[in-house]
Amino acid sequence: MALIVQKYGGTSVGTVEKIEAVADKIAKFRDKGDDIVVVVSAMSGETNRLTAMAQDIMDYPTPREMDVLLSTGEQVTIALLSMALEKRGFPAHSFTGGQVRILTCETHTKARIREIDGTRIHAQLEQGNVVVVAGFQGTDEHGNITTLGRGGSDTTAVALAAALDADECQIYTDVKGVYTTDPRVVEDARLLDTITFEEMLELASLGAKVLQIRAVEFAGKYKVPLRVLSSFEEGPGTLISLEEEKKMEDPAIAGIAFQRDEAKITVSGIPDLPGLAYNVIGPVSEAGIEVDVIVQNAAADNTNDITFTVKRSDSDRAKGILDNLQSSLQAREISLDKKIGKVSLVGVGMRSHAGIASKMFKTLATENINIQLITTSEIKISIVIEEKYLELAVRSLHGAFDLAEGEITEESN
Ligand code: ADP
Ligand code: ASP
Ligand code: MG
Repeated sequence: MALIVQKYGGTSVGTVEKIEAVADKIAKFRDKGDDIVVVVSAMSGETNRLTAMAQDIMDYPTPREMDVLLSTGEQVTIALLSMALEKRGFPAHSFTGGQVRILTCETHTKARIREIDGTRIHAQLEQGNVVVVAGFQGTDEHGNITTLGRGGSDTTAVALAAALDADECQIYTDVKGVYTTDPRVVEDARLLDTITFEEMLELASLGAKVLQIRAVEFAGKYKVPLRVLSSFEEGPGTLISLEEEKKMEDPAIAGIAFQRDEAKITVSGIPDLPGLAYNVIGPVSEAGIEVDVIVQNAAADNTNDITFTVKRSDSDRAKGILDNLQSSLQAREISLDKKIGKVSLVGVGMRSHAGIASKMFKTLATENINIQLITTSEIKISIVIEEKYLELAVRSLHGAFDLAEGEITEESN
């Protein structure tokens, strides 16, 4: 008998009918005798709806109250799914994050899980119940409700699987698994049987929202067998493999990730003195704004430019902070471009394959797409471009690197 943690995302529980279908699916696993802990998201669109209501009241709602509000979405689905299971003759017991005792840090709206107490869940499983846990939430040590950031139910599921020492963590979603890129943008994206944990970590951090990055980190740290599958169609899905070894014949590129909704800030004409980067980036990150790509130009006429990217939703605030510092920074100009996006090629095979970057740049040049910023690491290359070219860039790179279905060729190696 296995212990399986299953997570169903927003689309999978988007209507009462879909919740009933999830209950049917869980019933089949129970019939096989497996113990099941289910983690559910809010019904699709619900977290956005709640966020919009808060923003109707104020631009930057109080984070603590935001968490009280957002956590209600998942509370609805745990109750409905438990009822649907009961109706089918499968006793179920729902828990909010706090009721399980999922302890997090105090950072509202992007809290990190510190500890999970498995006692109550084990007690319910021993009584033969399916346990249904609200994803995306916990409580801090003072009992305040916290949430884990968008997509956080994935992290709840993997963290629970680690804490309960489950045999597998299955993430059920609205696509068949992890693809070479978002199948909604590239129709012939290829479904991957396996992907290394390291590659999944990069794809998740670079915008592939199929798994939240913290979930992948947990899976790596605690060696949780993790699989992404479809809620609606049978199939093996994609295994996130902990074996780092790549086979010789595997393609150099595992996938392409992209991020819309980015913005670029350039601070130009600052005197080129030690502390320049710190004086620009420091105040922005101290305000809790995540800074992504940072590029500093080579100094010319004793002045320098520094450019960095942030989430578009943070960009006005970041610019405001720097505008207030413009005279103390002695900057000539501070500019904001809200229409950019980032495209990244990811693959552990890039370590041993030369020429990936130049092929990427050539492909974009052929499409007449201007590259604004470039950053690289051993297993990824990211470029920042005008947002309107994002999908074109992804499609042409997907084609150029032969990533499509049935297209593994010598050239892609
Ligand atoms: P859920 O509500 O189940 O958590 P999400 O919307 O968070 O689902 O994540 C699934 C979505 O991730 C897919 O519908 C797909 O559009 C998107 N996605 C982006 N990149 C990829 C990828 N490489 N493979 C699969 N899906 C991807
Ligand atoms: N409901 C939350 C969100 O929409 C958490 C999740 O779905 O994973 O981000
Ligand atoms: Mg998700």
